[in-house]
Amino acid sequence: MELTFLGTGTSVGIPMIGCHCPVCSSDDPRNTRRRSCLYVKTGQTAFVIDTPPDFRQQMLDASIESLDAVVFTHAHADHIFGFDDIRRFNTLTGTVLPAYGDPETISHIRQIFDYIGTRPNPQGLFRPLIEFRPITAPFQIGDVTLTPLDIEHGVKMTGYILESKGTRAGYVCDCHSIPEESLAKLTDLDVMVLDALKYEPHPTHLSVAESVAYLQQIGARQSYLTHLCHHLDHAQLTSELPPSIAVSYDGLTVRLGN
Ligand SMILES: [Zn+2]
Ligand SMILES: [Zn+2]
Ligand SMILES: [Zn+2]
Repeated sequence: MELTFLGTGTSVGIPMIGCHCPVCSSDDPRNTRRRSCLYVKTGQTAFVIDTPPDFRQQMLDASIESLDAVVFTHAHADHIFGFDDIRRFNTLTGTVLPAYGDPETISHIRQIFDYIGTRPNPQGLFRPLIEFRPITAPFQIGDVTLTPLDIEHGVKMTGYILESKGTRAGYVCDCHSIPEESLAKLTDLDVMVLDALKYEPHPTHLSVAESVAYLQQIGARQSYLTHLCHHLDHAQLTSELPPSIAVSYDGLTVRLGN
């Protein structure tokens, strides 16, 4: 299983419009962060977790030409507003794509994208062809098993454990706290990805210190911080972390297993 980070920034993206701080004007490409998107690929399947406003450019830059499914974490704008561009994958694959998410998230997405259906509209103008699949239990995409995790983020938010061929990764991109039942499932992980918005506490996200404390408790072989704001310089933050915790960046691919 391969995980590629296509977006590791907070909701406004980095650089932020009109900001000239050292991170927003940095020459280090790892400080340029699009909105949250993870590309998951195995020998059998490929899918994305979330379709942010930057989705089209993320697909072009990573040369992704085929997707079998879309998985949503929650219905905040920075995670869903590129959904319309799924149209191209309908055309390329000639199929209706399944979109998975918890029932509340799927219901919000249906309201926001109320023109999306499973058949082309009569005028022949194209719109995304999606079969929505609300999930409350583990499900399968190709050879990947996804276990949903309830996460506290101010709105309904679902994290996922991804398992394939004996490898396990946890992905929790937006998080203020992890309920006990979800924490209990985050065991024996090769990789764990967790929200770390900034140094200071925030009402709906984890700070760096809070995130690091969770990651040390979870104890994955390698952990990555994500959903980073412009207070966090990649090199500086990396130097402050233990070796088992890294800072994710757009374009980073992590390989699990063979
Ligand atoms: Zn977000
Ligand atoms: Zn800035
Ligand atoms: Zn959010």
